[in-house]
Amino acid sequence: MNNKLYGNLIFELSKEGRRGYSLPKSPFGHYGLPAGARRTKDAELPECDEMTVVRHYTNHSANNFGVDNGFYPLGSCTMKYNPCINEEIAGYPSFSNLHPLQPTESVQGALEVEYCLQRSLAEITGLSDFTLNPIAGAHGELTGLMIIRNYHQSRGDHQRVKVIVPDSAHGTNPASAAVCGLEVVEVKSTPEGLVDIEDLKPLLGDDVAAMMMTNPNTLGLFEKEIPEIAKLVHDCGGLLYYDGANLNPLLGICRPGDMGFDVMHVNLHKTFSTPHGGGGPGSGPVGVRKGLEQFLPSPHVIKEGDKYAVENDHAIHVGAFYGNFLVILRAYTYILSLGKENLRMVGPLATLNANYIKESLKDVYELPIEGLCKHEFVFNGLKDKTQGVTTMDVAKRLLDYGYHAPTIYFPLLFHEAMMIEPTENESKDTIDGFIEVMRRIAGEARENPEVVKSAPHNTPITRVDDVLAAKHPILTYRQLTQDSETV
Ligand SMILES: *Cc1c(COP(=O)(O)O)cnc(C)c1O
Repeated sequence: MNNKLYGNLIFELSKEGRRGYSLPKSPFGHYGLPAGARRTKDAELPECDEMTVVRHYTNHSANNFGVDNGFYPLGSCTMKYNPCINEEIAGYPSFSNLHPLQPTESVQGALEVEYCLQRSLAEITGLSDFTLNPIAGAHGELTGLMIIRNYHQSRGDHQRVKVIVPDSAHGTNPASAAVCGLEVVEVKSTPEGLVDIEDLKPLLGDDVAAMMMTNPNTLGLFEKEIPEIAKLVHDCGGLLYYDGANLNPLLGICRPGDMGFDVMHVNLHKTFSTPHGGGGPGSGPVGVRKGLEQFLPSPHVIKEGDKYAVENDHAIHVGAFYGNFLVILRAYTYILSLGKENLRMVGPLATLNANYIKESLKDVYELPIEGLCKHEFVFNGLKDKTQGVTTMDVAKRLLDYGYHAPTIYFPLLFHEAMMIEPTENESKDTIDGFIEVMRRIAGEARENPEVVKSAPHNTPITRVDDVLAAKHPILTYRQLTQDSETV
């Protein structure tokens, strides 16, 4: 349809007013803008028919790779499945049509879901209480650090400004500490990939606000010295923060609260199955141990008798309303549909799958750290590096065989890092298929390295220059003409 025609149609329709609403009267006329600010020519918008638009987006979506298309072993990101029942329940109009400003008496069911998830997460992690307000893992970290900062300030401990972060940590850890106005101090890893306690000791003092830890860490290794680290940090008056993005392998086996952690976040969009990618929608609930509950942000859902209410008088606010409610709903659905017993199977199965892949491939890919891993592990590229085939090349070649690449070049501890996480829900057949393809690519790298170096060959777009694309993105669909207006 022609733009002008379409514009006129909308204008005519809106003149009629919709469902009893009439357009606000404005002293400047229908558009509510002074004459000098109104456009004089039609905007140069792309013109096309509806079917072209539908086909454009449908074809794009078919080119996309997601967990619904194939195996997605993206380490540190836990791309696990999103059960259909989650989507069905999140789609109920009685949930999806709620408005956050409705009176609490009219949203008792939604508040009950929030309250029950807060309690479930507290039970799963061994902590006292949770907030569901943060909308990403990184947002949870920031919230957790604000809680820690307020706790120290409430005790007059204003000099506690340092946050200790291991060198293997996810990049969001030091970033969150910096955004919170705290100072980041790095602690080294041992050659075995665990926090180096001898390096940690001299960093501890009365200026330490917190130490952040991920367990298992980003190398997929369980930090065995947690009780000692917790004692050292607590003895100097600091708090221990748990980055719970890697909670998956510990589910139902052990609890961060029992290990001595004081504050943590959980990534619902990783451990508890809700969809993510492309930046959202996420959810990073934050839990605290007993004694820190009053530092959680507002609004906070509580139970009073058999009714649910909202506390709004806590010191910090970290976002609008009650968090990403439909993500929260999906996570709670997942917890209930697995139940206590099946939730306990998540960690062992994820761990078994990761170790199976690691052991099946370590003769052709370089394994820098031997031994049992948890839900993920890191290879340092191909074992045979003589042909110059890099981790990037292997990642691109995997696309030709219908597999998403693992996380590559992270963690930064190894030059050719390739971080693989299969999750618990993949079948042995799927995992065997991935192992076979990884071995085939290692063979190609030896015998016909060019085919790997120039991959991918079968995808709609072949190898792109990522750096150029990131530095000089072209965001217009065509060059603007000389006299075209910008709005
Ligand atoms: C994903 C992840 C985060 C950050 O979570 P976002 O939701 O992406 O902000 C933090 N730490 C670790 C270990 C992670 O894997």
